[in-house]
Amino acid sequence: MTVDPPFTGPVENRISGIVIDAALEVHRTLGGPGLLESLYEEALACELKLRGLDVKRQWPVPVVYKGNQLKDDLRLDLLVADRVIVECHPALVGSRVDRFQELLNGRLEIAVGLETANPRVLAILNKGMTTDDFARAADYLHAREIDLRTFILLRPPFMTEEAGVEWAHRSLDFAWNCGARVCALIPTRGGNGALEKLAAEGFFHPPKLTSIESTVEYGLNLRRSLVFADLWDLEQFADCNDCFPRRRDRLAEMNLSQTVLPPIDCQRCGHSAA
Ligand SMILES: [Zn+2]
Repeated sequence: MTVDPPFTGPVENRISGIVIDAALEVHRTLGGPGLLESLYEEALACELKLRGLDVKRQWPVPVVYKGNQLKDDLRLDLLVADRVIVECHPALVGSRVDRFQELLNGRLEIAVGLETANPRVLAILNKGMTTDDFARAADYLHAREIDLRTFILLRPPFMTEEAGVEWAHRSLDFAWNCGARVCALIPTRGGNGALEKLAAEGFFHPPKLTSIESTVEYGLNLRRSLVFADLWDLEQFADCNDCFPRRRDRLAEMNLSQTVLPPIDCQRCGHSAA
């Protein structure tokens, strides 16, 4: 969860962006969920420091009740650059959110990983969450005017390329119907051992760059939520060195402009993003 307390200017948005990026890196490196919350918190603090941000862990905030300062403080998991609060609870959405809103008079934005709207695959991913749970959490946030940001996996395990693209589209639709303001599209990639094992057994294959492009185009053409493609280590999805740099730059520009740009043609591989 990221919170931009009272000030919601560009500095806080930039910090939030770095926090999301760092959280994705932790997710990629440690895998999960499944590890202790404190490990994710420590790893995230480490990532943020590597990115040059000041991070305070378990930072106490005094709570005053009818003029009396209470003995116990509110503990923030991470306070980044003294401006953005990050909470690492996987099942955060609930009464804790209300407490934050009471104590901080800024606009909250909460990130909840949807991963996929495919119920069967979501169950196999062992998120401990169903699509109904996601929808309920989204309703809860919407009723409190709290922004929702979500992550969607492109071609998670147990899907063909075609099914991976189809379900990424349906997941974007589902996230929009749940009121998500931002959807981050994550091409599923190995790195934690579990996906490599599934790949060896034939149950996982990373998506193609073409699929990443077509899914981002689909999301942007909906003109609903903001759609961002995660471009980290993108070259592993490419199969042509000639057009890859231009295609990566195009996706980066589409992230920034939130518009679909003209396709890149390649003489060598015959690619056309149209
Ligand atoms: Zn090419």
